[in-house]
Amino acid sequence: MVADTKMYDVLGVPPTADEGQLKSAYRKGALKFHPDKHREPAKKEEAEHKFKELSHAYDILSDPQKRQIYDQYGEEGLEQGGGGGGMAAEDLFAQFFGGGGGGGPFGSMFGGGGPSRPQGPMKAKTIIHVHKVSLEDIYKGKVSKLALQKSVICPKCSGLGGKDGAVKKCNGCDGRGVKTMMRQMGPMIQRFQTVCPDCNGDGEIIKDKDRCKQCNGKKTIVERKVLHVHVDRGVRSGTKIEFRGEGDQIPGAEPGDVVFEIEQKPHTRFERRDDDLYYQADIDLLTALGGGKLNIEHLDDRWITIEIIPGEVIAPNSIKVVRGQGMPSYRHHDFGNLYIQFNVKFPEHLGSEENPFTPEKVAMLESILPPRVEPTAIPADAMTDDSLVLEELDPTREQARMRSALDDDDEEMGGGERVQCATQ
Ligand SMILES: [Zn+2]
Ligand SMILES: [Zn+2]
Repeated sequence: MVADTKMYDVLGVPPTADEGQLKSAYRKGALKFHPDKHREPAKKEEAEHKFKELSHAYDILSDPQKRQIYDQYGEEGLEQGGGGGGMAAEDLFAQFFGGGGGGGPFGSMFGGGGPSRPQGPMKAKTIIHVHKVSLEDIYKGKVSKLALQKSVICPKCSGLGGKDGAVKKCNGCDGRGVKTMMRQMGPMIQRFQTVCPDCNGDGEIIKDKDRCKQCNGKKTIVERKVLHVHVDRGVRSGTKIEFRGEGDQIPGAEPGDVVFEIEQKPHTRFERRDDDLYYQADIDLLTALGGGKLNIEHLDDRWITIEIIPGEVIAPNSIKVVRGQGMPSYRHHDFGNLYIQFNVKFPEHLGSEENPFTPEKVAMLESILPPRVEPTAIPADAMTDDSLVLEELDPTREQARMRSALDDDDEEMGGGERVQCATQ
């Protein structure tokens, strides 16, 4: 059962028609209604309409995928993105009858330069490689020599696969490499495509003895090729470097392209954002307050020294910038910035047994640092408790607490109430 039989009716075939029946119905109709066969204007117009209808129907039904959509959902299904544009009537006719340079039955009747606009030549698939590059190499620029394996036309048989004429079109699939099969599934007839078993999808048959010895009838051989990939200074991750025609060669098609996509490897010291570099610097409290030096190994074997001026005070997590010490900008002659985020390491204790932290030292700190902020005042009528002790956190104890809290949740709460519980 099909949703709509209109397309089949146009061709005058039953919905169970196979590829051959469709083909011959279209052939007959197209020859009969071809507009160039009619001279009288009224008849010519009618024929033109029929011809277009016929071509449209054949365009859909001859494509197994479109046919399946049409059978299931009718023409609407194809309009809703299933089918796509389809082929113009004249193009389809030309393709079907092998139009072009006058080869088809109507070749001479089409005015001007042939029946169809030339379709773009076939092209082998593009080979895409991700080329991982270190930040150092992007900073300095380099040329990577990359080897790839590709198919090239067999030099011995010039891509024929054997002696001239040894290769025959497969009859099982009419050279298409695929066959359309039908399967009855309840009231529906399902069509599906399968690789032709006679030729294993090649569309061609060669006798073993006629096979080219070098490529074993495959028409191509695998070759190793080295390409020089220019990693320009400051190139961005994701940049594609294209080698036109350096990809696979396939008989009867344009050679494919090779594309290298630059991917920057993560760096241990720097994080890159566009042309800027980010650096996390650990400094001790004394340097943060009293000044000192910060040495950073850059990406081109240079070491740069950053001066921290005494008394300037570097606050924890503050970010400072060194202009012009970022990445070189791609194809320009300037540089991004280097941003430094400071992780100020506080001491664990002040003083030790030999050198205790005395009230005199506290007084010294008080003479240097801004005055203490007084604690929040306690209302006169409030109850107070000053017996409490501030303890160090014990991570294992904290983890155990969290685990037991989760277990309680599982036992007491249904799935839906858990969120509520967490917000309390
Ligand atoms: Zn060969
Ligand atoms: Zn076949």
